Amino acid sequence: MKRKLFRGTYLLLLAFTFLIAFSTKSNGINSSLLPENIQYSFAVSMENPGNHYFHVELTCTSQNTDFIDFKMPVWTPGYYGIQNNSKHLAGFKASDAQGKPLNFFKTSKNTWRVNSKNEKTVVISYNVYASELSVVGSYLDVSKAFISPTSVYIFPDGQIGQPSLVTINPYKGWKSISTGLDQIDDQPNTYYASDFDVLFDCPTLIGNHQVIDFVVKGIPHSLAVSAKDTLDKTRFISDLTKMVETATSLIGEIPYTHYTFITIGSFGGGMEHGNSCALSCTDPVSDTTNMEGYKEWLSFVTHEYFHLFNVKRIRPIALGPFDYDRECYTNMLWVSEGFTVYYEYLILNRAGIFTRDDCFKYFTENITGYENRPGHLLESATSSSFDAWIHFFERDGDNRNNTISYYDKGCALGLLLDLKIRNATKNQKSLDDVMRGLYNKYYKELKRGFTDEEFRSMCENMAGTSLSEIFEYASTVNEIDYPKYLSLAGLSIDTVAHIIVDETYFGASLSNDTDNCSLYNVWNAGLGNGDQLLSVDGQKADKESLTSLLKTKKAGDTISLSVKRDGIPVNVDVVLAPKTKRTFEIEQMQGSTPLQKLELESWLKQEEIRK
Ligand SMILES: [Zn+2]
Repeated sequence: MKRKLFRGTYLLLLAFTFLIAFSTKSNGINSSLLPENIQYSFAVSMENPGNHYFHVELTCTSQNTDFIDFKMPVWTPGYYGIQNNSKHLAGFKASDAQGKPLNFFKTSKNTWRVNSKNEKTVVISYNVYASELSVVGSYLDVSKAFISPTSVYIFPDGQIGQPSLVTINPYKGWKSISTGLDQIDDQPNTYYASDFDVLFDCPTLIGNHQVIDFVVKGIPHSLAVSAKDTLDKTRFISDLTKMVETATSLIGEIPYTHYTFITIGSFGGGMEHGNSCALSCTDPVSDTTNMEGYKEWLSFVTHEYFHLFNVKRIRPIALGPFDYDRECYTNMLWVSEGFTVYYEYLILNRAGIFTRDDCFKYFTENITGYENRPGHLLESATSSSFDAWIHFFERDGDNRNNTISYYDKGCALGLLLDLKIRNATKNQKSLDDVMRGLYNKYYKELKRGFTDEEFRSMCENMAGTSLSEIFEYASTVNEIDYPKYLSLAGLSIDTVAHIIVDETYFGASLSNDTDNCSLYNVWNAGLGNGDQLLSVDGQKADKESLTSLLKTKKAGDTISLSVKRDGIPVNVDVVLAPKTKRTFEIEQMQGSTPLQKLELESWLKQEEIRK
């Protein structure tokens, strides 16, 4: 998962050619190759998309129990927050093969118990309200449908390992379906999932979007592009190809038979899956004259792609098999998310798309993000991971002050670990060897995730030495000694520079809601989170007018704020003060030793390949 917002302008796409590098669509499998007696078959229809309801029917055959508990997941792997997807389900019904109703009752918020005594076949039907356009929400309107599977498909309790079939009945006139599920060649619009984990891992976009097929290392890939998007597809496919080649070379193999990039809108955010990813596709990605915005977009896509290894296959033990009924706690999101951020930059550098300076710039952005959050003095990387369920995805108004981002700190710790392992082994090993080691030992050989201790052992065995200082950085709020580790590659980092980012800071952030402009991330003792701004210096005020007023002031001036707190107006005089930010800059040191030079050269490419 990654949350990112892109800013920029659309470039009108005047001319466009794209690559179709193979002639036949080979994502499919023949029905003769399917397991015999698949017991669970879904049919999803969307006859009236304007009302935002999917209709879902699940036919269960070869049943032999007195009752079946049907469940809907309460969360989506990759999004570590409780979503309570069953709240969107309506009109649950159960019947036998002839349509005779079967009794059922609910046993929990997401469980329907159906009386199936003496019934070989049970048919379940329900509707799903789909109005959330996000990578973890389902959406349906007259322009497209997006199925986030954990909010559309229910599963029979205890049968998560069973295969299933899904038949999609698109709205009339819709011709495109994009999904990571295996298509069955001889059954139109029908797909196969080898178990429910696979089903829940394969979102599906349906509509009249454009589908561009391309091949990397002999494996079919496809890109689903929504009609409104103006992405420069020729260039994007070329860069995607290089990125996929580099990322899969890092681990040593391509572990899927086909891969689908799904772009679905411009709301921000992306979600990783085993052989697909869902991406919001915002403005500047098309504008290749704005290389900074385009590189940010590529970085974001690389993040979601590389997750197919790091988190989907190289994973902490808590993250699969999943318990879809409740939170799955792990201390290791600083590795699963933070290292994925770190590898965004390395992969694009190795692919010839990012320069060394680009990498330095992005490393320092993550370090700056971490070091400037007041919460970095309170929350460790392991705690922020464990508490993602209540801190990252359920943020309160004070989150900057008491929490960190495991993306930022995890990226910084990945950098430190990589440099330390390279130095300790005279550049014979690196973090790449750790990732390959974890993939081969836990994913391929043992077919499970790793514990915290096993992860540390893999790192320390690879380094041939203790890495206790770095692992203490992960589990504590100890101040990180960046210069010590960057110097291993002959680099310096300026850790003392501060810049003033706001001359007249009044001690809080303002919400964007114009009708109810409230304060959050409050850093001023006289103000409170949730205070509603009423007036400034006696004049009615909102975010815009306060921002304008502050531009006319200077540090040391006092403004008189009136805010509503608990329904009561409160007056607070605030002395404006400069707000500073720590900045970081990485540079090459003069007089590097041969080992430092070797480490830097083998770690990051220098050249500017393309403007
Ligand atoms: Zn992520």
